[in-house]
Amino acid sequence: MKPIGILGGTFDPVHYGHLRLAEEMRELAGLQQIRFIPTGNPPHRDAPQVSALHRSAMVKLAIVDHPDFVLDEREVRRTAKCYTVDTLRELRTELGEAQPLCLLMGGDAFLQLHTWHQWEKLLDLAHIVVGYRPGFTLEERIHSAMPELRKHYQQRLCNVDFLSQHPAGGIAELAIPKLEISATLIRNRVAENRTIRYLLPSAVANYIYQHHLYAPC
Ligand code: ATP
Repeated sequence: MKPIGILGGTFDPVHYGHLRLAEEMRELAGLQQIRFIPTGNPPHRDAPQVSALHRSAMVKLAIVDHPDFVLDEREVRRTAKCYTVDTLRELRTELGEAQPLCLLMGGDAFLQLHTWHQWEKLLDLAHIVVGYRPGFTLEERIHSAMPELRKHYQQRLCNVDFLSQHPAGGIAELAIPKLEISATLIRNRVAENRTIRYLLPSAVANYIYQHHLYAPC
């Protein structure tokens, strides 16, 4: 069964780094669909600069042309703290025990996984698929990770075929060129009145300007 990918993020705003990561992973891991799940009230980091409504609307604009990319607004509708483990539990109930689920993330996010709420449960609910820069494998960097995370990595490392053959439990690495784009870069450039063209879809850039997002007060 083809896996469903899950890409969570603050998407403050969504940009081509996210979209390329998703598209490369869709192709390399043979994903049938990728759900973009903007976080509502992220427990890990400072509050996003703009509301969940705006962040969600920007994701919608960014993926409108892609038949396999879907906006999933469940976290922005939640009023309590948003934990990925709760989202995965919900998806598992909705999609059934047999459906392979892949939680997608960049290598930096993976090395911090042990800071996530009930992080070890995540692997009972989904695979984790990590994008790493070619030439900078996780294997080289995993030595600096927390020992429990390192143990899971060593025991669960799998190839792409495993992802469609099992519903959860594997950790796969995919070599994906990382674009030097971040939401922080885009917010800073807007605040400095500098161009953001070609860093994100033009529909998203237009939305930012129309709604005066990220501009200095
Ligand atoms: P910020 O700059 O505000 O920290 P961000 O651009 O890193 O934001 P997030 O919404 O925090 O975006 O990221 C969501 C996911 O996308 C994370 O797993 C992150 O590793 C990944 N990601 C973000 N930017 C890139 C990029 N340029 N290339 C590949 N993956 C990326």
